[in-house]
Amino acid sequence: MPDSPPIRLVLGSRNAKKCREMAELIAPPWERRPWMDLTAIESIAAFPDAPEVVEDADTFAGNARKKASESARALGLWVLADDSGLAVDALKGAPGVHSARYAGEPCDDAANNRKLLEALADVPDDRRGAAFKCALALADPEGRIRLETEGAVRGRIVRELRGPGGFGYDPMFLIPEYHKTFGELSALVKHQLSHRSRAFARLRPMLGRLVVETVGG
Ligand code: IMP
Repeated sequence: MPDSPPIRLVLGSRNAKKCREMAELIAPPWERRPWMDLTAIESIAAFPDAPEVVEDADTFAGNARKKASESARALGLWVLADDSGLAVDALKGAPGVHSARYAGEPCDDAANNRKLLEALADVPDDRRGAAFKCALALADPEGRIRLETEGAVRGRIVRELRGPGGFGYDPMFLIPEYHKTFGELSALVKHQLSHRSRAFARLRPMLGRLVVETVGG
């Protein structure tokens, strides 16, 4: 085993809470695999010269690809990007790819939550369905997209914020089977159910094969 892992993998999000979830989900304690020890995980926040990528694609997958590819090419490192957000049925899928800046610049979770509560004020309980969606894209150091996956979870938007956990729209997103929002559920439970955990569950086996091929080859 070398002193330091041979593959440096940068998580391409400056959102510290999202990045923490990504780090927990890429190498989860309940699924230890040897390839995980071959991979040094870093955050793009540690690279002050990394470019600010303009997220102007009209799909989560398109934005994830753009973030991964542009950042990887600029850094000369493997980059895994996550683009995600909330699609509300009664708003025809909004805020969707605009979730981070729904209430405008700069990105402000509390303002986004307030705006969404107001937009749904007159929507009855049986029409408050929504889905969290997540697209992941992995780019190699030349900026080529090597892996892509997606995940989604359905829930309902509550009428007032509930719970201190998670980030973003978590305190508004109810998992009906648990009678709790992602803000109330523990990180461990969110990691069993979330859009991000489903996208990572699909990514991990493919990433494992790619790491072994890259290191072994
Ligand atoms: P992105 O960083 O451009 O992908 O923006 C994602 C935005 O979607 C975040 O700012 C959050 O508002 C929202 N979002 C994505 N994933 C989650 C989640 O797991 N919980 C709560 N909000 C999320």
